[in-house]
Amino acid sequence: MVESAEQLVTRLRRTFESGRTRDLDWRRRQLRGLSQLLADNEEQILAALAEDLGKPRFEAWAGDIAASIGEADHLRKHLGGWAKDTSARLPLPFRPGRASVRHEPRGVVLVVAPWNYPVYLLATPLAAALAAGNAVVCKPSELAPATSALITKLAADYLDSDAIAFVEGGVEETTALLEQRFDHILYTGNGTVGRVVAHAAAKHLTPVTLELGGKSPAIVDKDANLKQAASRIAFAKWSNAGQTCIAVDHVWVHHDVHDELVERLRTELVERYGADPRASADFGRIVNERHTARIKGLLDGGGYDEVAVGGDVDIEGTYVAPTIVTGVKPDAALMGEEIFGPVLPVLAFDDISEPIAEINRGDHPLALYVFSKHNADRVLDGTTSGGACVNDTMMQVFPPSLPFGGVGESGYGAYHGKWGFETFSHRRAIYRRPGFFVEPALAKAPYTALKERIA
Ligand code: NAD
Repeated sequence: MVESAEQLVTRLRRTFESGRTRDLDWRRRQLRGLSQLLADNEEQILAALAEDLGKPRFEAWAGDIAASIGEADHLRKHLGGWAKDTSARLPLPFRPGRASVRHEPRGVVLVVAPWNYPVYLLATPLAAALAAGNAVVCKPSELAPATSALITKLAADYLDSDAIAFVEGGVEETTALLEQRFDHILYTGNGTVGRVVAHAAAKHLTPVTLELGGKSPAIVDKDANLKQAASRIAFAKWSNAGQTCIAVDHVWVHHDVHDELVERLRTELVERYGADPRASADFGRIVNERHTARIKGLLDGGGYDEVAVGGDVDIEGTYVAPTIVTGVKPDAALMGEEIFGPVLPVLAFDDISEPIAEINRGDHPLALYVFSKHNADRVLDGTTSGGACVNDTMMQVFPPSLPFGGVGESGYGAYHGKWGFETFSHRRAIYRRPGFFVEPALAKAPYTALKERIA
């Protein structure tokens, strides 16, 4: 008999209430199991990622497998220290006494993952939830079906299935899950569904972390190291065929260095993928025909001078060539939504205040990249974004000491490293009085005029 969403959550809640998941050794065993699952089955996982997304081997290994193992291992090493009660200072009126903060698991939590890094964006929130001692329901994306099926099957051999469950499926299955009461939900994906998740969670007053997307800009100033900028932008735009939440969506470049940057980007493309990127084993595909057609629609929408590089789209082959579009106007179709594909619009500016103003006119991006010797802080101080890099791209995501999360339309809440442990923990304030302490008569009714004067 297939277990309903309600039965599943009830079963996991029973496990949670037994106290099993609070045990630090249990948490470490699950995290080791997760790393082991990914390491032992590397070839199968790489094959599934190739089937779902045409992911090049190296990108799949680095972005999905190695990054997930790194996060799980980091959490395993540190959770013992983080889970200890921390003492808090007490002002005089509260003494004698002791105060502490205890990190308690929230309970039964839900992780809803997208398709673009279908292992990493499932495994890393799962790892954080486990480090904090929760029971977890994982909902992989139906748009990466081979990976979803494989991870669900393997989980049974590596993880405690009384406390960690995988639910495959699409909108119907997610909707059924969202009707249940969870103690925290971490959702990664687009903002429209993010709102659906937040709405469903509100019914149960469930706290939510929303990891969304947006149009993340790169700004290249006239004093930037252009070789470095082109290389880092190429990495962030064309890895995973641009289907990365923190990819460079578009580039603002100073007029004086516009042509040189475009030429350097062209060179980067040839060096990376050869003269025919379609034939390169290192260039990925779009997840499905619907998204391929959507990207073609953005290109066909005009509002720019020329396609300087690429431009080929094969909807049936889910192929979009790495593409550079120049002379892009702020009202072009390409600027109307997150591109989430390998098309790079280039916009020129005369003064750094122009991109700053444009960025502030739009939604707060998930990431912002600035290449400049003198104006980096001006850009950082004049804007906001989930995270940012100066003279680099995407590196804000990897150090476990940095929080990963959005702001405004790019989401709220954060995780990675200790930030993930915090997200999936409740901070319980505990105050202890010594047993011998006698309450001062001052705080006790009846509150006489004399007591008021003394107080
Ligand atoms: P997706 O279509 O796989 O959806 C994500 C999850 O939502 C899936 O598990 C899916 O089953 C579920 N879902 C879809 N429709 C639903 C509905 N109506 N009700 C309930 N659940 C539903 O992924 P996507 O949204 O196409 O992902 C791409 C977007 O995610 C981009 O905007 C990207 O920037 C963003 N993203 C953000 C991050 C981040 O960490 N901030 C990471 C990756 C992607």
